[in-house]
Amino acid sequence: MLRAMLLEHCSWPDVERYLELNNGVLIPIGSTEQHGPTGLIGTDAICAQAIAEAAGDALDVMVAPPIPVALAEHHMAFTGSMTLRKETLVAVIEDYTQSLFRHGFRRFYFINGHGGNIAVLNETLKGFSANSTGPDAATYTFVNWWAGPRTKKLRDEWYGDSEGGHATPSEIAVTQFVRPAAMKPVQRLGPAPKSQGFSSAEDFRSKYPDGRIGSDPSLATPEAGRALVASAVADITEHYRDFAR
Ligand SMILES: [Zn+2]
Repeated sequence: MLRAMLLEHCSWPDVERYLELNNGVLIPIGSTEQHGPTGLIGTDAICAQAIAEAAGDALDVMVAPPIPVALAEHHMAFTGSMTLRKETLVAVIEDYTQSLFRHGFRRFYFINGHGGNIAVLNETLKGFSANSTGPDAATYTFVNWWAGPRTKKLRDEWYGDSEGGHATPSEIAVTQFVRPAAMKPVQRLGPAPKSQGFSSAEDFRSKYPDGRIGSDPSLATPEAGRALVASAVADITEHYRDFAR
């Protein structure tokens, strides 16, 4: 996974040379929030970064530095979670993409690791695309790494209802594969409450006391994580080629 072209590992002449051939960039966006009693707080950021690096490698497309903290207000009753305000996140997305636009990047492709970012990505990137017109126009889109057809099929087959809605075995499996040394011992956890909505951070914690929503992360394995990264990369490379054509 280290062969990807990471912007932070380039010199400025490297980036100039890249832009003579390609104006695309992958931007990982995650979240820094509780993932149940055993999952890493960085799960969403770690998954987005790893999959972006692997996809960048497969596509020969530059990978920008990640946005590791995003919208997690609903997780703030769990210690260690961090959140940006929505307006901060929109400003960060705009400043990241506009910095790169000034150098000549024109295809902005976010790889998202967190369901709570979907609405703001949708709205913000649609707005940017609509406002970018003329011969120098840029295009913007995002993909949820877990939602492509191959990846969804694996998640359904392997985990079914135990996938749940938060601290899912599939995302925990990816972190086991990518960050084995950081993982906590696997614990059998009792059934998690099913999704029933929430109205605030405190309400989230009272409805889902250990932070999971309907999931059984003890089903995760690093081998499954490896296969999920590969399937996500296959889904993303197909989608990206269509986007960038
Ligand atoms: Zn997550």
